[in-house]
Amino acid sequence: MHGTTEKYTLSSKTTSPMEENKEEKSLNFIEEIVDNDLKSGKYASIITRFPPEPNGYLHIGHAKSICLNFGLTQKFGGKTNLRFDDTNPETEETDYVNAIKEDIKWLGFTWDEELYASDYFETLYGYAVDLIKKGLAYVDDSNSEEIAALKGTPTTPGQDSPYRNRGIAQNLALFEDMKAGKFETGERVLRAKIDMSHINMLMRDPIIYRIKHAHHHRTGDKWCIYPMYDFAHGQSDSIEKITHSICTLEFVPHRELYDWFIEKLEIFPSKQYEFARGNLSYAITSKRNLLKLVREGIVTGWDDPRMPTISGFRRKGYTPSSIRTFWEKAGIAKRDNLIDIGLLEFCIREELNKTAIRRMVVVDPIKLVITNFPEGQTESLLAENNPEDEHAGQRILSFSRELWIERDDFMEEPPKKYFRLGPGLMVRLKHAFIVECERFEKDELGNITTVFCRYFPESKSGHDTSGIKVKGTIHWLDSATAKEAEVRLYDRLFTVENPGMEEGDILEYIHSGSLKVVEHAKIEPALLEAKPSDRFQFLRLGYFCLDRDSTSEKLVFNKTVGLKDSWAKMNQS
Ligand code: ATP
Ligand code: MG
Repeated sequence: MHGTTEKYTLSSKTTSPMEENKEEKSLNFIEEIVDNDLKSGKYASIITRFPPEPNGYLHIGHAKSICLNFGLTQKFGGKTNLRFDDTNPETEETDYVNAIKEDIKWLGFTWDEELYASDYFETLYGYAVDLIKKGLAYVDDSNSEEIAALKGTPTTPGQDSPYRNRGIAQNLALFEDMKAGKFETGERVLRAKIDMSHINMLMRDPIIYRIKHAHHHRTGDKWCIYPMYDFAHGQSDSIEKITHSICTLEFVPHRELYDWFIEKLEIFPSKQYEFARGNLSYAITSKRNLLKLVREGIVTGWDDPRMPTISGFRRKGYTPSSIRTFWEKAGIAKRDNLIDIGLLEFCIREELNKTAIRRMVVVDPIKLVITNFPEGQTESLLAENNPEDEHAGQRILSFSRELWIERDDFMEEPPKKYFRLGPGLMVRLKHAFIVECERFEKDELGNITTVFCRYFPESKSGHDTSGIKVKGTIHWLDSATAKEAEVRLYDRLFTVENPGMEEGDILEYIHSGSLKVVEHAKIEPALLEAKPSDRFQFLRLGYFCLDRDSTSEKLVFNKTVGLKDSWAKMNQS
């Protein structure tokens, strides 16, 4: 993990301003297609759409499609619609519609029109009737097993259904009866009449309408027949005059059917273009599996900070710009690949390094007593809020005889390159003084409870005249003024790099240590004023934000991402 992070850091640092400019100007392959279509005058302006099915929350993969579709019209002008692809009544819910809208807005995009494929049910029905009238569709009384049995295989042709050659009038009457609810769910289907021996299996008389006596989130019980994806998607594109209908690679074989319907119906010729799905390592981007994690209680909900959903990343403290930058850097490919989650972490870390407010927090506290600091006295120290931002201002830290430090920052028998505290060792307390360890105390279980140090009054940060050189700096808090909060530390949700590709159940690959809750972390008093939009760097621990579970009694902080940890690296060597 650290190796990968390092690589990104290096490559970003070595990019000169000129190279960055070049990078900005080069177009991805879809942008090139659009650019050519506009230059050649094929279109005066373009229309794209983002077409989610409202059957779950949006995930990081959807963000790629959003950035691409909205990005095209930001770059080239034109319109981007938000179209809910809500033709499947059973899995769709209004809650999902609202969550999807919130996520797109949060990502920073505004759609031109909010549309629903279900608004086109009447038009789509009319298109189906058109096909029947042209002799290009028929009602099939076979059940799904019978249809499957005649479908053939990729290497052997299919066979005609016994109902394939029904007359137009009979087909029209039967289709009308289907619509009128005269049949049970699954009793009949409407199929396009194309070619049962077509080399593309999807062209072997695909089903275009099925009967489902199910309640729809918008049309209620008005319909009991619903168009299949292939018969709704392209037609919806055409109704909206979408010029570039962008989808993921698994739809390549569907393109032929997409074009066939448009040609036979003689409607606006939208065109489909495919790009590689965005897949992220240690994550899954399938709503079905994400829903499973929610239902099984593996996570607390769709916006659990461990979820690869947009709402999960938001709650974890990711910013919209970090996600947009991530997809910009990952690029648009024509081949499926797995993108290292380290790149996403790099993007948020780089942004937060510039903007986050620095604070000190001790998650696993032990006492540090300054033996030569007078009891009952306090010294006020100035500390900058963000060394990367001169406008971020300063805060006052109190320093007194009893402090909190991390348990990890003391070792009874430190190895050679341990630049923290141990018997006789010296370290700097951040923003404060150099201290030297004199002795320590343990409890009956052998755990360190208190470390005793002397401090060097002339070593104060910014005014150090002590001449003492130390290699390590650690964070600390004044025990007299420190407050408490809950800190939630997240790790990967999965134990394997590509959980979606593993055999068996996704639940077998859940990382049991994906959440560690520190109920009583010590925090700086300034953190009591934290606002939901604030981003913090807890020194040496990582980046954090306030969680929505916070109350006035108890603040809760989420870990967004770790720092590039020089300690971890040192400890490996
Ligand atoms: P899921 O399997 O998660 O349900 P989906 O493709 O069925 O995914 P939709 O709601 O139909 O989900 O997707 C809306 C749009 O987002 C589609 O255009 C789809 O191609 C695109 N999309 C979905 N997943 C990804 C992904 N991982 N990378 C890029 N685009 C995606
Ligand atoms: Mg889909």
